[in-house]
Amino acid sequence: MKKPKIFLIVTVLLIFVQSLFAQPDVPVNEWRGKNVMFIGAHPDDDAKTHGTMAMLQDNGNEVYVVIITSGNVGTKDPNVSMNQLARIRRAEELGALGELGIPEDHYINLGYTDGMLELENKKEVIEKLVRLIRTYKPEIVIAFDPGKGKMRWHKADHRAACVLATDACRAAEWPLLYQGQIIHEGLNYHQVSAYLLFDGFEEDFNTFVDVSDYKKQVINASMKYVSQYTSGNYNYQGANLSEDEAEKFRKRLEKRFLNEDGRLIEKLRYYKGIPDGIGR
Ligand SMILES: [Zn+2]
Repeated sequence: MKKPKIFLIVTVLLIFVQSLFAQPDVPVNEWRGKNVMFIGAHPDDDAKTHGTMAMLQDNGNEVYVVIITSGNVGTKDPNVSMNQLARIRRAEELGALGELGIPEDHYINLGYTDGMLELENKKEVIEKLVRLIRTYKPEIVIAFDPGKGKMRWHKADHRAACVLATDACRAAEWPLLYQGQIIHEGLNYHQVSAYLLFDGFEEDFNTFVDVSDYKKQVINASMKYVSQYTSGNYNYQGANLSEDEAEKFRKRLEKRFLNEDGRLIEKLRYYKGIPDGIGR
């Protein structure tokens, strides 16, 4: 009776260990020479995949970051205006990307108003995203996971962003959609080959990227989001924190990002193929 029990335990353990290291056929850390595009709603949505982004850029891929809103309402400080916040968050995002080794000209912000993305003109937003996809021709798109089988609930702008990103990828591959870009702007239709989807259901993660080598860059990048993750969200006093608050902030980020053993693993859903199947 003991043997089957041990067999079961070993099998379960093996599956667990395998799931920790699950990867696409060519593991993400072996990707080279690819164009990769992150599409998100706010200038900090990328924080969840910063390690993967830093690694990809470091490994000779080109990582582009497209953020749809300027993030101009993400404050509870009554003395910060929307314009001020948009500028602050642009500087924070460029600072974060700089820590990851992603060049400034790889950051594109479409400038929509934060918190209102679901209410914007969808055709217009998608047209803009399609133009970027046809311009930068990403083989890989990193986006919020809309859900597989069932829709994942995300907060409003994230909910909009996951659908807009997927719809834009789909539209980009059809030559007769937004054909003005092809006829008049010299662009060509483009098919995204695969997706890395984040913030999805736990059971849908099939790719676990060990980016422990980049944990310093990842923490330093998130340290830039002073207007979002610190007392600056209530009372913004500039980009520089006191030594004491900076130290506490770093500790908080380490706790948030790192496993108990100090490793940084990013959990994603890898999907390969036409976007029509992303929800299946
Ligand atoms: Zn967000």
